[in-house]
Amino acid sequence: MKSATMRGTGLGAISYESERHAEAPECEVVRYACSLGHQSVIPFSVEAEEIPLTWMCRCGREAAAVNKVPKMAFVITADQRVLRTHWDMLLERRTIADLQELLAERLAVLRNQEEEEERLSA
Ligand SMILES: [Zn+2]
Repeated sequence: MKSATMRGTGLGAISYESERHAEAPECEVVRYACSLGHQSVIPFSVEAEEIPLTWMCRCGREAAAVNKVPKMAFVITADQRVLRTHWDMLLERRTIADLQELLAERLAVLRNQEEEEERLSA
């Protein structure tokens, strides 16, 4: 039994693959640029409580974060959601003919169920 690997993660969805790589701490790389154009690339641990929006440049000026983008910015906006619906995605995978066939199949199944229920309740 490999009970030693069954550590309680609570979710049970963590793969051994990610566990093996977990030793190298993940970091978020933030690029800062000062008013003279010097760039400082500073890696922060993802466990860092707060990533500063400014950094002291090597020239002594204050450098502003260039690529500090809140993670939430990558969430699809409402506009994009309108542009690409579930229906659009479905059509990328299936043709209308496929969908008609599937619909016919499902309707046949439902009709059979209905008939069955009617027969049982009669
Ligand atoms: Zn500078």
